[in-house]
Amino acid sequence: SKCRANYTPLSPITFLERAARVYADRTSIIYRNTQFTWANTFNRCRRLASSLNKLNIVKNDVVSILAPNVPAMYEVHFAVPMAGAVLNTINIRLDSANVAQILDHSEAKILFVDYQYLRLAVEALRRLMNAAKSLPLVVVIDDVDTPTGVRLGELEYESLIRTGNPEHPPYVVEDEWDPVSLNYTSGTTSAPKGVVYSHRGAYLSTLSLLLQWGVGGFPVYMWSLPMFHCNGWTFTWGMAARGGTNVCIRNTGAADMYHAISTHKVTHMCCAPIVFNIILEATPEQRRPINHPIHVLTGGAPPPPALLEKIQGLGFNVTHAYGLTEATGPAMVCEWQSEWNSLPLVEQSRLKQRQGVSVLTLADADVKDPETMVSVNRDGKSIGEIVLRGSSIMKGYYKNDVENAKAFKDGWFWTGDVGVVHADGYVEIKDRSKDVIISGGENISSVEVENVLYLHPDVLEAAVVAMPHPFWGESPCAFVTMRKNSQVKEEDVIDHCRCKLPKFMVPKKMVFKDELPKTNTGKILKFKLREMAKELEQE
Ligand code: ADP
Repeated sequence: SKCRANYTPLSPITFLERAARVYADRTSIIYRNTQFTWANTFNRCRRLASSLNKLNIVKNDVVSILAPNVPAMYEVHFAVPMAGAVLNTINIRLDSANVAQILDHSEAKILFVDYQYLRLAVEALRRLMNAAKSLPLVVVIDDVDTPTGVRLGELEYESLIRTGNPEHPPYVVEDEWDPVSLNYTSGTTSAPKGVVYSHRGAYLSTLSLLLQWGVGGFPVYMWSLPMFHCNGWTFTWGMAARGGTNVCIRNTGAADMYHAISTHKVTHMCCAPIVFNIILEATPEQRRPINHPIHVLTGGAPPPPALLEKIQGLGFNVTHAYGLTEATGPAMVCEWQSEWNSLPLVEQSRLKQRQGVSVLTLADADVKDPETMVSVNRDGKSIGEIVLRGSSIMKGYYKNDVENAKAFKDGWFWTGDVGVVHADGYVEIKDRSKDVIISGGENISSVEVENVLYLHPDVLEAAVVAMPHPFWGESPCAFVTMRKNSQVKEEDVIDHCRCKLPKFMVPKKMVFKDELPKTNTGKILKFKLREMAKELEQE
């Protein structure tokens, strides 16, 4: 190994080893009536790592997991790398075909499955079997707080821990560039791609994000963001680094979140902006009084300023971040400048909805013209593609040279997101390149139209996509969900847009829906809406 007194390969594993030494008796995890300390968590992870090695898991093997935010999901973030293996967390809302595809592509040796997701796992395994593919060993994770006894075969999570060796020698990372995890993109715009993180990238991204969000010692962190999303934007590893308490919840319904927040005095949480609606629309029975400050990091989709204003009004202190799986989660943070506190609230929300400035782990971030690869002017108007480079960018897509060649060009990682740079250096996203609406040669940012829709008091969710138009090429089509019992009609919402937008940006069609199609991380699936818009146009 390359270890010397003055050099050790960077790895997030060291956060847990340290936590067990310096925060041994502090609470690491709370889940229902079950609690662990950092000493317990380290002990459990060591045992699990030894059991994985006994099951013939060796360096660089892939170990997958299909689980919600339960303690086991947290533990594997350390135990799997401590066995030398690569952690592959799978989105629990995927269908069995997608799960099978990921298990096959990643060549997973073991699949951990939470008991609630056994049916999905079995269907995926059946697909693999029918296609004569090799199957991973399955380990069922029963509920650690209230075991159900549900099993599938021999292997069960708690027994692997019980029979493991608590003195298992620590795994020594040979090279910090070795893989630590494999995350498949959620496929909002294309087929899932396997994004590989290195120990080094994970370690540095974790630290820089903690610093930039200002997470001090001993946060109480509620897992509202799925851990399967970019390893929980690195806060899985980050909570060990800060001696924090992980408040694990199985579901992110309003009642569970309010209960956790008020019972455990949650100080920090992450979520997609859409989750704000769950909090804001909670019924009186679901609500609990919140009398302490809560810091929320939001991202994954553009937060409409109107929604930011409302959630801040409820006492949530929101920080806005922008990122993508390929950048180990957040790549930019809208760093708040204290002078902005004296601005009117509307202006504050407008500043806050900007995606911000690059995280410390990135050497550089820029907005460039995709054709000429030249930086755009910092005028808040000139549009280009956001490019990034530095240590939080993935090693690459797993076994996918075609996509790697598309994403890495000219020494930069090209995000596919379209935006502007303001004079103060803050970046603002206008769209994903695939979502830009081009009407009569004019670019329309769907985000700008959506922000106006969210200003309407009865609009709950809004998404604007391109609809084919015989004359303009494309025209904006809005899909909207309305607040319960709203009497407002489609035409009224179009009128609302007419007062606030230039004519060419006003949606030509307004469709009210009970629900918008979404990924599990709360992202609206615009390609589905585009298909619907196409059909509408043909009617
Ligand atoms: P997928 O592309 O499959 O949704 P990701 O979860 O990695 O996978 O999504 C990253 C994308 O989400 C970004 O490329 C960007 O388009 C969008 N996104 C993330 N954060 C923000 C944000 N704060 N504002 C606007 N868009 C965002």
